[in-house]
Amino acid sequence: MTNVPLLDLKIQFAQIRSEVMPLIEQVCASQQFILGEHVRAFEEESSRYCGTVAGIGVSSGTDALLVALMALGIGAGDEVLTSPFTFFATAGTIARTGARPIFCDIDPATFNLSAAAVQTFIDTQCETRGPDLIRLATGGRVKALMPVHLYGQSADMAPLMAIARRHGLKVIEDAAQAIGTEYTDHVRVGSIGDVGCFSFFPSKNLGAFGDAGLCTTNDLELAERMRVLRVHGGKPKYFHALIGGNFRIDELQAAVLRVKLKYLDGWTQARQRNAAFYDAAFADARLGPKLETPLAMVGDRHIFNQYIVRAQRRDALKSFLADRHIGTEIYYPVPLHRQECFAYLGYQAGDFPQSERAAAETLALPIYPELERAQLKHVVASVAEFYR
Ligand SMILES: *Cc1c(COP(=O)(O)O)cnc(C)c1O
Repeated sequence: MTNVPLLDLKIQFAQIRSEVMPLIEQVCASQQFILGEHVRAFEEESSRYCGTVAGIGVSSGTDALLVALMALGIGAGDEVLTSPFTFFATAGTIARTGARPIFCDIDPATFNLSAAAVQTFIDTQCETRGPDLIRLATGGRVKALMPVHLYGQSADMAPLMAIARRHGLKVIEDAAQAIGTEYTDHVRVGSIGDVGCFSFFPSKNLGAFGDAGLCTTNDLELAERMRVLRVHGGKPKYFHALIGGNFRIDELQAAVLRVKLKYLDGWTQARQRNAAFYDAAFADARLGPKLETPLAMVGDRHIFNQYIVRAQRRDALKSFLADRHIGTEIYYPVPLHRQECFAYLGYQAGDFPQSERAAAETLALPIYPELERAQLKHVVASVAEFYR
């Protein structure tokens, strides 16, 4: 029986092993583990890749979001608009600063934050007072917008940026799943808002050998503030005008990521080929509304961190595929407004119908670059068999 794991990183490691291991050896020989030459070079190479003038390597994607929020001065009394259909860290970091997350529903076609929903929220539930946008229900200042480029596809940034500009909101892009993703004509995500936040968690398209992340920006003052916050806010060392944290990326991780960055575009192309194969094969299988394949916006570059289908009888399909040795996952089964820890925000079931429907219907199929044709065919044939 053909095995199709959701992700198998061992094949990729075998391809780059002879390049990576000597670098690890070299870092160990130097015993320079903190903010060394590889970190500096990786920041330069990765920020250039993302189309920004500055990059700050940090300890994880979560810490990238936290550092960005802290650098923008967001905290108690502030509120940040975001999507409820995302990984926990998006809203978790907002709450950790003392600010309050505000959720607006997603666009069902792309699963990304709906600019129309954000606009409606502002028009009906906020009021401008001097330079501030005040949320009437809480009296909080709405300070920022945090769109997520979910699954590797850009949020619709033009209308979101227009809203932000109109209301003086900062924009933090949660680009954790979206390194190399483009919005319209070759505009890389992470270069559009005030800060872009990337994750190099092993299962992301550019994965470290552990945790790592990156903040990108074109604002040099903001870049400097994030660099200082990364080392407890000390500048010079042991003198603190700001309260930061230990948010440093490891030298070893930076060395690994520098090697992998060179291969990223090739791996992205392989993911896109796999997605195109699925699109065509599922269309041939004529599953109609039983299985909807993902919509990639024309003109954008979708990097397919995940290939997400909407499936009727989703949970039964998932276990049917598991019996056929096909790994799948649900990203994400509980939208954030329904999480226990966010009960204090006062949201109810039914508040964000598109997010709730997505949580109930979506399933991630294996899409990693090294999948073989026979494995892709096995996935399609098994899905077709389930619905027959
Ligand atoms: C992975 C991810 C994060 C967090 O990144 P870590 O490196 O795991 O801390 C944040 N937001 C989204 C959307 C993610 O997918």
